[in-house]
Formats: sequence, C-alpha cells, structure tokens
Amino acid sequence: MMQSCGVALVTGASRGIGRAIAYELGKKGFGVAVNFASDEQGAAETVARLTAEGYRAEPFRADVSSHDDARGLVEAVEKTMGPLEALVLNAGITRDGLLARMSEEDWDRVMDVNLKGVYNVLKWGSRSMMRRKSGKIVAVSSVVALTGNVGQANYCASKAGVIGLIRASARELSRYGITANVVAPGYIDTDMTKALPEAGRERLMAAIPLKRAGVPEDVAKAVAFLVSPDASYITGEVLKVDGGMSIGAQT
Ligand code: NAP
Repeated sequence: MMQSCGVALVTGASRGIGRAIAYELGKKGFGVAVNFASDEQGAAETVARLTAEGYRAEPFRADVSSHDDARGLVEAVEKTMGPLEALVLNAGITRDGLLARMSEEDWDRVMDVNLKGVYNVLKWGSRSMMRRKSGKIVAVSSVVALTGNVGQANYCASKAGVIGLIRASARELSRYGITANVVAPGYIDTDMTKALPEAGRERLMAAIPLKRAGVPEDVAKAVAFLVSPDASYITGEVLKVDGGMSIGAQT
C-alpha cells in the first residue's frame, strides 16, 4: 500500500502541463484536487485517469483570477479532501500581440490570471499551511520571464512577477517550514503552443540545445521533485525545464 503524502491542489489541471502534474503527484501518493475554470470535461478526464489507477482525485471549478473563487477553492478542497500539503500554481493563459498594439484588456486578463491568480490561491492556500507549519508550494512561470519574448510583453511581465512573488513568499513562509519554488518551462508541446505557426516552431526548435520540444511530463517530474522530501532544503529557487533553451545561442 502506497504511503499517503496528503492533498495537492493543482490549478489549471484540465489539460496540458497541469494534467501531467496532477497525474505525477497522484503516482507519488498525493490525493489530487484538480482545478479548472471552464473545461469541465477535461478536468473529468484528468480525474478519471487518476481514479482508474486507484489514486484519489476530485475536480474543483474556480477561476483563479477571482479572489473569492480562490478562497472558495481552498475551502472546498480542504473540506472535501483534507488539509493541503502541496500547492501547484499552474493555471495560465496567453493573449499575444506586439506591445504597440496590445489592448488594455489583453494586458489585464493575462496579469489577472497569471499573476493575480497565483497571489489569490497562494494567499488562501498558504494560510492553511502556516497554521499546520507544513507545506510545499510550486508556481509555474516560464523561461520567457527571464529572457523576454517578442509579442509576449504581458505574458513575460506576468511570469516575471510570479518569480518575485514566490521569492518573497519563500522568505515569509520559511519560518513555518514551508518551501516555495518556481519551475520555468521552455517550449512544451501543449494546446497553448499548438497555435504557433510552423516557421516559429522551427526557429524555436533550432534554439533548443537538446533538439526537442518538451513534453508536459518533463515539467511534472520537476514539480514532483520540488514537492518531495528530497527538496526540503530548496526554497526560493527557479528551476528551468527548457532543454537548455535559455542558455543562449552558441557562438
Ligand atoms: P493549456 O494547455 O492552455 O492549459 C491551461 C490550463 O489553465 C487549463 O487547465 C485551463 O483550464 C487553466 N486555466 C486557464 N485560465 C484559468 C483560470 N482563470 N482559472 C483556473 N484555471 C484556468 O496550457 P499549458 O501549456 O498546459 O500551460 C500550463 C502552465 O505552464 C501555464 O501557466 C503556462 O503559462 C505555463 N507554461 C507553458 C509553456 C508551454 O510551452 N506550454 C511554457 C512555459 C510556461 P480551463 O480551460 O478550464 O480554463
């Protein structure tokens, strides 16, 4: 019988990287709270995949950009499944466009989901962890937070904000024995990157030293490490999962 690691909440787990994280944490012994905003069917598939293998998982609808939804999410998860031991802040969106043409609405929505969404769930989730003096937090940023990217000023700013937010939280939460870290994926094959034109994909691939796109499981395994006891002396760290993409071009 596998030892239970407690409950992990994964935001944006109805597909892509979040789904892979949910599955990986289920395998490691966490009960998994599968959050989604609109893709109910996707969340049900994530849950079904976990429960089919005998792991514990339940879906929870909440828009992370809403402070009230985030509070309700944490309360519902703890009431239904038990105290949160791991929090994975993965939900994210893109609304790409060149800065000069970027609408205020596209700027605001990306900041609301990607940055405020992390603050919202982190605030309510970490309160519960502080009371129990235990917990692991991982936020999903992006390597473009470090490198910048044409057409993604809003996205890069939101993901750079996540790094600052998590580093500040790592300092605040350390006295409660809680760690907070970031994973920064590079180019990962998911619905989010499917929209890229073929020429753009080829350019990206040429810039990846390991010469392949990442898969969601590459990111999931890094997250699973950071929430495991093996990472108990790591906090405030940014772990890039990008096949070397952000090392920079070879000269
Ligand atoms: P994806 O396939 O588009 O999935 C995004 C997930 O976020 C979905 O489950 C979606 O659920 C959820 N979501 C979106 N808005 C939400 C909201 N307001 N509240 C709650 N959930 C919400 O994206 P992905 O590629 O797996 O990306 C996952 C994370 O990794 C994102 O933070 C992304 O920025 C980051 N990332 C991705 C890449 C990449 O190459 N793919 C690279 C670097 C970083 P609903 O459909 O139900 O809204």
